[in-house]
Amino acid sequence: MSDDAVSTVLGIDIGGTKMAAALVSADGRILTGDRILTPAGGADEVFAALAELIDKVRGDATPLAVGIGSAGPLDQTHGLVSPVNIGGWRNFPLVDRVRALVGDVPVTLGVDGHCFALGEFWTGAGREVDTLLGIVVSTGVGGGLVVDGKPLIGQSGNAAHIGHVVVDLDGESCACGSSGCVEAYASGPRMVARAKRRGWRADEAVDAAVLAADAAAGDELALATFDDGAQALAAGIVATAVTVDLTTVVIGGGVAKAGPILFDPVQAWVKRLAQLPFVTDLSVEPAQLDNAGLLGAAHQAWSTLS
Ligand SMILES: [Zn+2]
Repeated sequence: MSDDAVSTVLGIDIGGTKMAAALVSADGRILTGDRILTPAGGADEVFAALAELIDKVRGDATPLAVGIGSAGPLDQTHGLVSPVNIGGWRNFPLVDRVRALVGDVPVTLGVDGHCFALGEFWTGAGREVDTLLGIVVSTGVGGGLVVDGKPLIGQSGNAAHIGHVVVDLDGESCACGSSGCVEAYASGPRMVARAKRRGWRADEAVDAAVLAADAAAGDELALATFDDGAQALAAGIVATAVTVDLTTVVIGGGVAKAGPILFDPVQAWVKRLAQLPFVTDLSVEPAQLDNAGLLGAAHQAWSTLS
């Protein structure tokens, strides 16, 4: 590396649909980056694709550290990942395998939702605040918290599982084993299932994007379903806001692409539910970045060096 080369870390974002990697400067600029579709296959097959991506992005550079954000569950202590949507990886030693590839530099591992929140906090919607809740609404509902400028990790690395805050005491069953969770009302697949039970496109293979388009066109069943999802999200948001004392919430993920169809009812429900004086100004905004998870992973890597 020449003397005037910019110092970088390598950020890696692992999801069930795609994997991304980038060299990121200390001020949050992506110098080079790429992404691939997450391949199906066994553990080594999936890792070989990631290794190829890392080599391509890294080129001749020598990143000072590596930060990985991954879909969970994961075991941070031992650097193991078992992403629900990557069947080939169960207790896969991702940290050790990446370290073997990049050499003797710090390698950190964090939950993708935490990295999303951290990325938005660093260079996106949270630039002006110290405390922020980030929520990712897609096939599930994940999240992350930055409190007083620091990511909240928790005892086992799983803080801010906002999708599993219980918001309905007699609620629908949830994949986690509980019932009445935010995710049971607000995830894309659960909203689609709920709308279908009401008679919306009952026999068609459709997804949350179709539901959003129908809601935007005024379909009452679709609108009612988004309102239910929004109410659950708002209840989870307000529960979190009064718990940690925050006023900035950022929502990203595929379902958030519905825009005002999701944000208008979320904001209306938040206004109704957030009554204590310190949360009446609670703001809920769309994510500003389309790669917040990747940037958050890189921020995590920079934190190991400071
Ligand atoms: Zn749950």
